[in-house]
Amino acid sequence: MTLRRGAGAVKVGLSIGGGVATMEQLEPRELRNDGFTSVFIACYEDEMRWHAQTAADFSRACQGAGLEVYVVPLGYGRVTDPDASTESLYVSEHPHHCQVDSRGRKVPKACPNNPAFLEWFSSNMRTLAWLLECRGFLWDEPTMYGARGVWACRCEWCQRLFYGEQQRQMPLELDSDVARFRRNSLLMFLLAAAAAVQAVDRRLASVVMPTSLQSGRDAGLGSDTLKPLAQSAAVDMLSVYVPWQSAGRDMEVALRSTVEEANAAVRAERKPLLIWIGGSPHPRDKLLEALKVARNAGVEQMVIAGHQTLTASSAYERFRPELARTIAQVR
Ligand SMILES: [Zn+2]
Repeated sequence: MTLRRGAGAVKVGLSIGGGVATMEQLEPRELRNDGFTSVFIACYEDEMRWHAQTAADFSRACQGAGLEVYVVPLGYGRVTDPDASTESLYVSEHPHHCQVDSRGRKVPKACPNNPAFLEWFSSNMRTLAWLLECRGFLWDEPTMYGARGVWACRCEWCQRLFYGEQQRQMPLELDSDVARFRRNSLLMFLLAAAAAVQAVDRRLASVVMPTSLQSGRDAGLGSDTLKPLAQSAAVDMLSVYVPWQSAGRDMEVALRSTVEEANAAVRAERKPLLIWIGGSPHPRDKLLEALKVARNAGVEQMVIAGHQTLTASSAYERFRPELARTIAQVR
């Protein structure tokens, strides 16, 4: 593929999952040498209780190597919940602060409208912001629980808030008022999250990644709500994942249409956009082509997800020079 002349430059970042074990193995200078300009570091609730210093040292080393650092808190009540297997001690210790679904069952996800949870969450985010040198925080897929016709939340706080807003009991069906209530609950949660870290340093960016589920209705904050997110004061930068592999889509079509749609949402707000793409050295993941398509489509910031499939892969050493060459080309 040829690169279109006049297209802008793409800054390429890497998302780093795997927690502190990964942080101890990675050499930030090598990532910088390969052309990466930013890292998105997953910080797990259950690890940060004991290993926050490791994360703090790693983020400092990354900043020292010239990488922009973004913190991605995972667990922490699991309101931000891209991976259902992430543990949260808060959830196991505070079942009464969890979301209640439309069958009346508690689900393993704290309710963003529960004041006690919100206070705990904000305090933990302030601590992370104090400890870790970074440019900002990414809130990864904040969602209300939803699955096959069952939805949350009908906890006492949500019922009270809904009644206060609508002057009627919360229905058992997910009607349009409930859908709006769930979306607004997540937007309010994001405002609190942004306020918590910006109380420590007002320059810290609040980046939001809505869930890429087509059924945004299930999650309450799907990628169909890009506009309200872009308009929210809680969002300094919008982040959008392009799951073309799992969606069985053509990479170029999926990437270009996502970029177009997301740009339409952020343009009027003059907020930057971050495009995420899954990547590995395997040719079927078309990572090198995707970087070039992104550049031609005018993407300014791209993040490769993630470390496990790419930099930790056994095929990475062989792939590395070509990737570094491509990153240099699109930069
Ligand atoms: Zn609730």
